[in-house]
Amino acid sequence: MKQIYLDHNATTLIEESAKSALLFFSSTEKDSDKNFGNVSSVHWAGRKLKSAWEEAHEKVAELVGAERPEEICFTSCATESINFAIKGAFFKHLEEGFKPTDFILFTSQVEHEATLESARFIERLGARVFYCPVDDQGSLRMEVLDQALTKYKGRFLFSFMAANNETGIIFPIEELLRRCKSVDGVFHLDAVQALGKMEFSLKTFPVDFASFSAHKIGGPKGVGALYIKRGQKLENLMHGGAQERKRRAGTINVAGVVAFGCAAQALNLVSSQSQEQTQRLRDEFEAKLTARFSGVNILGKNQPRLSNTSMFLLDGVRGEALLMGLDLAGIAVSSGSACNSGSIGPSHVLLAMGFDKVAAASAVRVSFGARNSSEEIDYFMNALEPIVKRTRK
Ligand code: PLP
Repeated sequence: MKQIYLDHNATTLIEESAKSALLFFSSTEKDSDKNFGNVSSVHWAGRKLKSAWEEAHEKVAELVGAERPEEICFTSCATESINFAIKGAFFKHLEEGFKPTDFILFTSQVEHEATLESARFIERLGARVFYCPVDDQGSLRMEVLDQALTKYKGRFLFSFMAANNETGIIFPIEELLRRCKSVDGVFHLDAVQALGKMEFSLKTFPVDFASFSAHKIGGPKGVGALYIKRGQKLENLMHGGAQERKRRAGTINVAGVVAFGCAAQALNLVSSQSQEQTQRLRDEFEAKLTARFSGVNILGKNQPRLSNTSMFLLDGVRGEALLMGLDLAGIAVSSGSACNSGSIGPSHVLLAMGFDKVAAASAVRVSFGARNSSEEIDYFMNALEPIVKRTRK
Protein backbone atom coordinates (compact mmCIF):
# COMPACT_ATOMS: atom_id res chain seq x y z
CA MET A 1 0.00 0.00 0.00
CA LYS A 2 1.08 3.54 -0.74
CA GLN A 3 2.21 5.44 2.35
CA ILE A 4 1.80 9.20 2.38
CA TYR A 5 3.01 11.27 5.28
CA LEU A 6 1.20 14.58 5.78
CA ASP A 7 1.87 15.09 9.48
CA HIS A 8 5.10 17.09 9.62
CA ASN A 9 3.94 19.19 12.58
CA ALA A 10 3.93 15.98 14.64
CA THR A 11 7.39 14.90 13.56
CA THR A 12 9.69 14.78 10.56
CA LEU A 13 11.87 12.28 8.74
CA ILE A 14 15.47 12.42 9.90
CA GLU A 15 17.96 14.34 7.71
CA GLU A 16 20.79 12.31 6.12
CA SER A 17 23.50 14.30 7.91
CA ALA A 18 21.70 13.93 11.26
CA LYS A 19 21.44 10.17 10.73
CA SER A 20 25.16 9.96 9.92
CA ALA A 21 25.90 11.87 13.12
CA LEU A 22 23.86 9.40 15.17
CA LEU A 23 25.75 6.48 13.62
CA PHE A 24 29.11 8.21 14.08
CA PHE A 25 28.61 8.11 17.83
CA SER A 26 27.49 4.49 17.84
CA SER A 27 30.92 2.94 17.33
CA THR A 28 31.78 -0.48 18.72
CA GLU A 29 35.05 -2.22 19.51
CA LYS A 30 35.38 -3.24 15.85
CA ASP A 31 35.28 0.34 14.53
CA SER A 32 38.53 2.23 14.12
CA ASP A 33 37.00 5.47 15.38
CA LYS A 34 35.89 5.03 18.96
CA ASN A 35 33.40 7.82 19.50
CA PHE A 36 31.78 6.57 22.64
CA GLY A 37 33.26 9.00 25.16
CA ASN A 38 31.57 11.13 27.76
CA VAL A 39 31.88 14.78 26.70
CA SER A 40 32.56 15.76 30.30
CA SER A 41 35.62 13.48 30.61
CA VAL A 42 38.99 15.18 30.47
CA HIS A 43 40.83 12.25 28.82
CA TRP A 44 41.09 11.60 25.06
CA ALA A 45 37.77 9.77 24.78
CA GLY A 46 35.88 12.78 26.09
CA ARG A 47 38.08 15.49 24.62
CA LYS A 48 37.70 14.27 21.06
CA LEU A 49 33.93 14.76 21.25
CA LYS A 50 33.86 18.12 22.99
CA SER A 51 34.37 20.16 19.85
CA ALA A 52 31.47 18.34 18.13
CA TRP A 53 29.26 19.19 21.11
CA GLU A 54 30.39 22.83 20.97
CA GLU A 55 29.83 22.98 17.22
CA ALA A 56 26.26 21.75 17.71
CA HIS A 57 25.60 24.81 19.90
CA GLU A 58 27.02 27.03 17.16
CA LYS A 59 24.85 25.47 14.46
CA VAL A 60 21.62 25.73 16.43
CA ALA A 61 22.52 29.29 17.54
CA GLU A 62 23.10 30.21 13.90
CA LEU A 63 19.76 28.77 12.76
CA VAL A 64 17.69 30.48 15.45
CA GLY A 65 19.60 33.78 15.35
CA ALA A 66 21.10 33.64 18.85
CA GLU A 67 24.09 35.91 19.34
CA ARG A 68 26.23 33.36 21.16
CA PRO A 69 26.42 29.55 21.15
CA GLU A 70 26.54 29.59 24.97
CA GLU A 71 22.97 30.88 24.94
CA ILE A 72 21.83 27.45 23.71
CA CYS A 73 21.17 24.85 26.40
CA PHE A 74 20.40 21.36 25.07
CA THR A 75 17.57 19.44 26.73
CA SER A 76 15.74 16.16 26.14
CA CYS A 77 12.87 17.75 24.16
CA ALA A 78 10.98 21.02 23.80
CA THR A 79 8.57 19.85 26.50
CA GLU A 80 11.50 19.90 28.91
CA SER A 81 12.68 23.29 27.60
CA ILE A 82 9.23 24.77 28.21
CA ASN A 83 9.04 23.25 31.71
CA PHE A 84 12.53 24.63 32.39
CA ALA A 85 11.60 28.16 31.29
CA ILE A 86 8.32 28.38 33.19
CA LYS A 87 9.15 26.47 36.36
CA GLY A 88 12.75 27.71 36.36
CA ALA A 89 11.60 31.35 36.28
CA PHE A 90 9.05 30.70 39.03
CA PHE A 91 11.49 28.78 41.27
CA LYS A 92 14.10 31.51 40.82
CA HIS A 93 11.49 34.03 41.93
CA LEU A 94 10.83 31.92 45.08
CA GLU A 95 14.55 31.34 45.64
CA GLU A 96 15.04 35.11 45.73
CA GLY A 97 12.56 35.30 48.59
CA PHE A 98 9.52 36.67 46.78
CA LYS A 99 5.95 35.51 47.42
CA PRO A 100 4.46 33.01 44.94
CA THR A 101 1.47 35.28 44.42
CA ASP A 102 3.77 38.01 43.15
CA PHE A 103 4.66 35.83 40.16
CA ILE A 104 2.32 36.33 37.22
CA LEU A 105 2.35 34.16 34.12
CA PHE A 106 0.67 35.48 30.99
CA THR A 107 -0.03 32.79 28.44
CA SER A 108 -2.86 31.68 26.14
CA GLN A 109 -5.59 29.07 26.18
CA VAL A 110 -4.26 27.43 23.03
CA GLU A 111 -0.68 26.69 24.04
CA HIS A 112 0.87 23.24 23.83
CA GLU A 113 0.15 21.05 26.88
CA ALA A 114 3.77 21.47 28.01
CA THR A 115 3.00 25.15 28.66
CA LEU A 116 -0.53 24.63 29.97
CA GLU A 117 0.48 21.86 32.40
CA SER A 118 3.49 23.84 33.63
CA ALA A 119 1.20 26.84 34.11
CA ARG A 120 -1.31 24.77 36.10
CA PHE A 121 1.55 23.36 38.18
CA ILE A 122 2.92 26.74 39.27
CA GLU A 123 -0.65 27.94 39.78
CA ARG A 124 -1.09 25.13 42.34
CA LEU A 125 2.04 26.45 44.05
CA GLY A 126 0.53 29.92 44.35
CA ALA A 127 1.52 31.74 41.15
CA ARG A 128 -1.16 33.69 39.31
CA VAL A 129 -1.80 32.76 35.69
CA PHE A 130 -3.74 34.59 33.00
CA TYR A 131 -4.79 32.46 30.02
CA CYS A 132 -5.49 34.81 27.13
CA PRO A 133 -8.50 33.72 25.04
CA VAL A 134 -8.56 33.55 21.24
CA ASP A 135 -11.27 34.51 18.77
CA ASP A 136 -13.08 32.16 16.38
CA GLN A 137 -10.17 32.49 13.93
CA GLY A 138 -7.63 31.40 16.54
CA SER A 139 -6.09 34.86 16.93
CA LEU A 140 -5.22 36.19 20.38
CA ARG A 141 -7.73 38.60 21.88
CA MET A 142 -5.20 41.33 22.53
CA GLU A 143 -7.80 43.72 23.94
CA VAL A 144 -8.57 41.17 26.70
CA LEU A 145 -4.86 40.76 27.37
CA ASP A 146 -4.42 44.53 27.60
CA GLN A 147 -7.27 44.81 30.07
CA ALA A 148 -5.84 42.01 32.19
CA LEU A 149 -2.40 43.62 32.21
CA THR A 150 -3.80 46.63 34.09
CA LYS A 151 -5.20 44.35 36.82
CA TYR A 152 -2.03 42.57 37.90
CA LYS A 153 0.97 43.81 39.85
CA GLY A 154 4.11 41.76 40.39
CA ARG A 155 6.79 40.02 38.35
CA PHE A 156 5.69 38.97 34.91
CA LEU A 157 6.63 36.02 32.76
CA PHE A 158 5.03 35.89 29.31
CA SER A 159 4.99 32.48 27.62
CA PHE A 160 3.43 32.26 24.17
CA MET A 161 3.88 30.09 21.14
CA ALA A 162 5.24 31.60 17.94
CA ALA A 163 2.71 29.57 15.97
CA ASN A 164 0.05 27.07 16.87
CA ASN A 165 0.87 23.43 16.13
CA GLU A 166 -2.75 22.59 15.23
CA THR A 167 -4.06 25.55 13.25
CA GLY A 168 -0.71 26.99 12.18
CA ILE A 169 -1.88 30.48 13.26
CA ILE A 170 1.07 32.78 13.90
CA PHE A 171 0.87 34.93 17.02
CA PRO A 172 1.87 38.63 17.03
CA ILE A 173 5.19 38.03 18.76
CA GLU A 174 6.50 41.58 18.46
CA GLU A 175 3.31 43.04 19.96
CA LEU A 176 3.36 40.54 22.82
CA LEU A 177 7.01 41.28 23.47
CA ARG A 178 6.28 45.00 23.58
CA ARG A 179 3.50 44.40 26.15
CA CYS A 180 5.84 42.20 28.20
CA LYS A 181 8.62 44.77 28.25
CA SER A 182 6.17 47.55 29.17
CA VAL A 183 5.64 45.73 32.50
CA ASP A 184 9.32 44.82 32.86
CA GLY A 185 8.57 41.15 32.28
CA VAL A 186 10.61 38.34 30.79
CA PHE A 187 9.45 36.50 27.69
CA HIS A 188 9.56 32.81 26.82
CA LEU A 189 8.69 31.88 23.25
CA ASP A 190 7.61 28.35 22.29
CA ALA A 191 9.22 28.44 18.85
CA VAL A 192 8.89 24.70 18.18
CA GLN A 193 6.73 25.04 15.07
CA ALA A 194 8.37 28.19 13.73
CA LEU A 195 11.62 26.91 12.25
CA GLY A 196 11.50 26.51 8.49
CA LYS A 197 7.78 27.37 8.31
CA MET A 198 7.79 31.14 8.89
CA GLU A 199 10.28 34.00 8.93
CA PHE A 200 11.95 33.45 12.26
CA SER A 201 15.02 34.82 14.00
CA LEU A 202 15.77 35.80 17.57
CA LYS A 203 17.29 38.92 16.03
CA THR A 204 13.77 39.95 14.95
CA PHE A 205 12.15 38.56 18.10
CA PRO A 206 14.59 39.40 20.90
CA VAL A 207 12.91 37.28 23.58
CA ASP A 208 14.61 36.15 26.81
CA PHE A 209 13.98 32.41 26.43
CA ALA A 210 12.90 30.24 23.51
CA SER A 211 12.18 26.52 23.14
CA PHE A 212 13.06 24.37 20.13
CA SER A 213 12.75 20.71 19.21
CA ALA A 214 15.11 18.67 17.02
CA HIS A 215 12.57 16.20 15.66
CA LYS A 216 10.43 18.94 14.09
CA ILE A 217 13.28 19.93 11.78
CA GLY A 218 14.80 16.63 10.66
CA GLY A 219 16.73 15.92 13.85
CA PRO A 220 16.29 12.96 16.18
CA LYS A 221 13.53 12.53 18.77
CA GLY A 222 14.46 13.17 22.36
CA VAL A 223 16.55 16.32 21.86
CA GLY A 224 15.48 19.90 22.39
CA ALA A 225 17.04 23.24 23.18
CA LEU A 226 16.29 26.18 25.38
CA TYR A 227 17.69 29.54 24.32
CA ILE A 228 18.65 31.53 27.41
CA LYS A 229 19.60 35.09 26.58
CA ARG A 230 22.94 36.16 28.05
CA GLY A 231 22.37 37.61 31.52
CA GLN A 232 19.06 35.79 32.06
CA LYS A 233 18.93 33.20 34.80
CA LEU A 234 16.62 30.31 35.66
CA GLU A 235 16.58 27.97 38.61
CA ASN A 236 17.76 24.58 37.38
CA LEU A 237 15.30 21.70 37.22
CA MET A 238 17.94 18.97 36.99
CA HIS A 239 20.46 18.70 39.77
CA GLY A 240 23.50 16.46 40.05
CA GLY A 241 26.10 17.67 37.58
CA ALA A 242 27.63 20.68 35.84
CA GLN A 243 26.72 19.73 32.28
CA GLU A 244 25.42 22.23 29.69
CA ARG A 245 27.35 25.04 31.37
CA LYS A 246 25.90 24.18 34.79
CA ARG A 247 22.32 24.58 33.58
CA ARG A 248 21.24 20.97 33.09
CA ALA A 249 22.72 18.10 35.06
CA GLY A 250 22.98 14.70 33.37
CA THR A 251 25.36 13.00 30.96
CA ILE A 252 25.14 14.75 27.61
CA ASN A 253 23.34 12.98 24.78
CA VAL A 254 26.20 13.80 22.46
CA ALA A 255 24.90 11.86 19.44
CA GLY A 256 21.50 13.54 19.77
CA VAL A 257 22.76 17.08 20.13
CA VAL A 258 25.29 16.74 17.32
CA ALA A 259 22.54 15.31 15.10
CA PHE A 260 20.34 18.29 16.08
CA GLY A 261 23.19 20.57 15.01
CA CYS A 262 23.42 18.80 11.64
CA ALA A 263 19.66 19.12 11.06
CA ALA A 264 19.84 22.81 12.00
CA GLN A 265 22.68 23.39 9.55
CA ALA A 266 20.80 21.57 6.79
CA LEU A 267 17.63 23.60 7.42
CA ASN A 268 19.59 26.85 7.54
CA LEU A 269 20.64 26.27 3.93
CA VAL A 270 17.15 25.66 2.58
CA SER A 271 14.81 27.41 5.00
CA SER A 272 13.20 29.97 2.67
CA GLN A 273 13.09 27.48 -0.21
CA SER A 274 11.40 24.93 2.03
CA GLN A 275 8.87 27.53 3.17
CA GLU A 276 8.01 28.41 -0.43
CA GLN A 277 7.67 24.77 -1.37
CA THR A 278 5.38 23.82 1.51
CA GLN A 279 3.26 26.92 1.00
CA ARG A 280 2.81 26.04 -2.66
CA LEU A 281 1.70 22.54 -1.68
CA ARG A 282 -0.57 23.82 1.09
CA ASP A 283 -2.24 26.35 -1.22
CA GLU A 284 -2.71 23.71 -3.92
CA PHE A 285 -4.19 21.35 -1.34
CA GLU A 286 -6.68 23.94 -0.07
CA ALA A 287 -7.67 24.97 -3.59
CA LYS A 288 -8.32 21.35 -4.60
CA LEU A 289 -10.16 20.57 -1.37
CA THR A 290 -12.57 23.47 -1.72
CA ALA A 291 -13.08 22.85 -5.45
CA ARG A 292 -13.92 19.18 -4.96
CA PHE A 293 -15.95 19.14 -1.74
CA SER A 294 -18.78 21.21 -0.37
CA GLY A 295 -18.93 22.44 3.23
CA VAL A 296 -15.19 22.89 3.71
CA ASN A 297 -14.14 25.17 6.57
CA ILE A 298 -10.42 25.96 6.56
CA LEU A 299 -9.49 27.36 9.93
CA GLY A 300 -7.76 30.74 10.06
CA LYS A 301 -7.53 30.82 6.27
CA ASN A 302 -7.03 34.57 6.16
CA GLN A 303 -4.81 34.81 9.21
CA PRO A 304 -1.01 34.77 9.22
CA ARG A 305 -0.29 31.04 9.19
CA LEU A 306 2.62 28.62 9.03
CA SER A 307 3.48 27.91 5.41
CA ASN A 308 2.85 24.17 5.67
CA THR A 309 -0.27 23.79 7.82
CA SER A 310 -3.93 23.39 6.94
CA MET A 311 -6.58 22.53 9.49
CA PHE A 312 -10.09 21.99 8.21
CA LEU A 313 -13.56 20.69 8.99
CA LEU A 314 -15.95 19.05 6.54
CA ASP A 315 -19.65 19.56 7.24
CA GLY A 316 -21.29 16.35 8.40
CA VAL A 317 -18.07 14.34 8.52
CA ARG A 318 -16.77 13.12 11.87
CA GLY A 319 -13.04 13.29 12.55
CA GLU A 320 -12.59 9.64 13.55
CA ALA A 321 -14.27 8.37 10.39
CA LEU A 322 -12.10 10.62 8.31
CA LEU A 323 -8.87 9.75 10.07
CA MET A 324 -9.53 6.01 10.00
CA GLY A 325 -10.55 6.08 6.34
CA LEU A 326 -7.45 8.04 5.39
CA ASP A 327 -5.25 5.73 7.46
CA LEU A 328 -6.70 2.71 5.64
CA ALA A 329 -5.64 4.43 2.41
CA GLY A 330 -2.13 4.84 3.82
CA ILE A 331 -2.41 8.57 4.52
CA ALA A 332 -1.05 9.90 7.81
CA VAL A 333 -2.72 13.10 8.99
CA SER A 334 -3.65 14.32 12.42
CA SER A 335 -6.78 15.17 14.32
CA GLY A 336 -6.34 17.38 17.34
CA SER A 337 -2.74 17.43 18.49
CA ALA A 338 -0.89 14.22 17.71
CA CYS A 339 2.09 15.13 19.82
CA ASN A 340 -0.22 15.52 22.77
CA SER A 341 0.07 12.13 24.48
CA GLY A 342 -1.18 10.32 21.39
CA SER A 343 -4.80 10.82 22.37
CA ILE A 344 -7.57 11.74 19.99
CA GLY A 345 -10.00 13.92 21.91
CA PRO A 346 -11.61 17.25 21.22
CA SER A 347 -8.83 19.67 20.54
CA HIS A 348 -8.47 22.27 23.33
CA VAL A 349 -7.42 24.73 20.64
CA LEU A 350 -10.70 24.34 18.76
CA LEU A 351 -12.73 24.40 21.97
CA ALA A 352 -11.02 27.71 22.82
CA MET A 353 -11.96 28.97 19.33
CA GLY A 354 -15.61 28.34 20.22
CA PHE A 355 -16.26 25.03 18.43
CA ASP A 356 -18.41 22.43 20.20
CA LYS A 357 -16.93 19.09 21.25
CA VAL A 358 -18.07 17.21 18.14
CA ALA A 359 -16.68 19.82 15.77
CA ALA A 360 -13.49 20.15 17.82
CA ALA A 361 -12.90 16.41 17.53
CA SER A 362 -13.66 16.46 13.79
CA ALA A 363 -10.97 18.83 12.61
CA VAL A 364 -8.21 17.37 10.49
CA ARG A 365 -4.72 18.79 10.32
CA VAL A 366 -2.59 18.30 7.26
CA SER A 367 0.99 19.49 7.56
CA PHE A 368 3.33 19.34 4.59
CA GLY A 369 7.05 18.78 4.30
CA ALA A 370 9.15 19.96 1.38
CA ARG A 371 9.31 16.40 -0.02
CA ASN A 372 5.55 16.02 -0.47
CA SER A 373 4.22 16.26 -4.01
CA SER A 374 1.18 17.29 -6.08
CA GLU A 375 0.60 13.60 -6.87
CA GLU A 376 0.21 12.93 -3.18
CA ILE A 377 -2.37 15.71 -2.95
CA ASP A 378 -4.35 14.12 -5.79
CA TYR A 379 -4.09 10.72 -4.11
CA PHE A 380 -5.42 12.32 -0.91
CA MET A 381 -8.42 13.87 -2.73
CA ASN A 382 -9.27 10.54 -4.40
CA ALA A 383 -9.06 8.73 -1.09
CA LEU A 384 -11.14 11.36 0.66
CA GLU A 385 -14.06 11.33 -1.77
CA PRO A 386 -15.54 7.89 -0.90
CA ILE A 387 -15.06 8.56 2.83
CA VAL A 388 -16.98 11.83 2.62
CA LYS A 389 -19.74 10.27 0.50
CA ARG A 390 -20.08 7.33 2.90
CA THR A 391 -20.15 9.37 6.09
CA ARG A 392 -22.44 12.08 4.70
CA LYS A 393 -24.99 9.45 3.67
N1 PLP B 1 5.39 23.07 21.57
C1 PLP B 1 4.77 22.92 20.40
C2 PLP B 1 4.12 24.10 19.75
C3 PLP B 1 4.72 21.66 19.79
O1 PLP B 1 4.09 21.51 18.63
C4 PLP B 1 5.34 20.56 20.43
C5 PLP B 1 5.25 19.21 19.86
O2 PLP B 1 4.55 19.00 18.92
C6 PLP B 1 6.02 20.78 21.64
C7 PLP B 1 6.01 22.05 22.18
C8 PLP B 1 6.73 19.67 22.34
O3 PLP B 1 7.89 19.27 21.63
P1 PLP B 1 8.67 17.93 21.98
O4 PLP B 1 8.04 16.86 21.18
O5 PLP B 1 10.10 18.19 21.56
O6 PLP B 1 8.57 17.72 23.44
